[in-house]
Amino acid sequence: MTRLERALRERIRSEGAISVEAFMEACNAYYYATRDPLGAAGDFVTAPEVSQMFGELVGAALGDCWKRAGAPPDAVYAELGPGRGTLAADALRVLRSSGFAGDVHFVETSPVLREAQKQAVPNAHWHDSIAELPKRPLLLVANEFLDALPIRQLVAGIERRVTVVGGGLAFDRDGEIVEVSPARDDAVGAIAAHLVKHGGVALLIDYGHERTAPGDTLQAVSLHRFASVLEAPGERDLTSHVDFEAVAASASKAGAKVSPLVTQGEWLQRLGIDARAQALSRANPDRLEQFNAAIQRLCGSKEMGTLFKLIALHAADWPQAAGFA
Ligand code: SAH
Repeated sequence: MTRLERALRERIRSEGAISVEAFMEACNAYYYATRDPLGAAGDFVTAPEVSQMFGELVGAALGDCWKRAGAPPDAVYAELGPGRGTLAADALRVLRSSGFAGDVHFVETSPVLREAQKQAVPNAHWHDSIAELPKRPLLLVANEFLDALPIRQLVAGIERRVTVVGGGLAFDRDGEIVEVSPARDDAVGAIAAHLVKHGGVALLIDYGHERTAPGDTLQAVSLHRFASVLEAPGERDLTSHVDFEAVAASASKAGAKVSPLVTQGEWLQRLGIDARAQALSRANPDRLEQFNAAIQRLCGSKEMGTLFKLIALHAADWPQAAGFA
């Protein structure tokens, strides 16, 4: 039994069954605080870890927006849940070459990942929450951040909870599940409110669906495989599909402009990932195959290309990011 499972059982014994939301929050806080889960040797691989092209195209899109907004010198690069800092390092290389000289601000709660981020981007500033970001225009990106924030699950309108049955953890009810995520709504609302007040643009990238629909999307991943959600709490990555209709609604409610939704494959193609691979392979001819394999992984419809999607938010006096039609 994991240390967290002992603590959760103790909590359930004293408080009664806990919501899926409380369970997910406790598991992920423990999980991310105690490890770097990324990469082949870890539990899962994210787009920026697949190829430098991903972060470079994010940097190109943010740099283009910043220039079209008049290149405000007080703008900062901001990232939510930056993992190993790979996306930031790749994006900033391109942003710097477009003349952007602003500071770098990370929202990250994991001390282990903050350490990795410090290696990748030594001069960044770290924060515990979106509210702590500086009151300036943001060039913000969040990749696979929203999916890790806790969700509530409702069955026939009643909160689904985790309880102890016999020897193990179990859900207290089953049936048609509706998921909502106040934590995500709050995060998106806070980003949008910041953009409205101080300017900037935000790219939110995650796996999920375009329309709100019932269904159980809570999943656990360990060592690159799906695992049981309730087993080994705190030792597996718990995520759920992002409901982009809810994301768009939270952003609009806070007054931000919201782009159409686009699949990751489509967006990377529109931003010119093929040309980027050609350019990179001119300098590294032996790596052409590697670049093509990365494009397949990032854009292929059976891989990350269709399941992963992007939505962009911006202030009314900022332009929409490129690639959203
Ligand atoms: N964006 C990175 C990592 C994705 S994993 C990439 O694409 O590779 C999720 C990231 O969000 C990790 O950095 C994790 O520590 C961070 N995170 C999870 N929950 C968080 C929270 N509530 N507040 C801040 N960061 C959080």
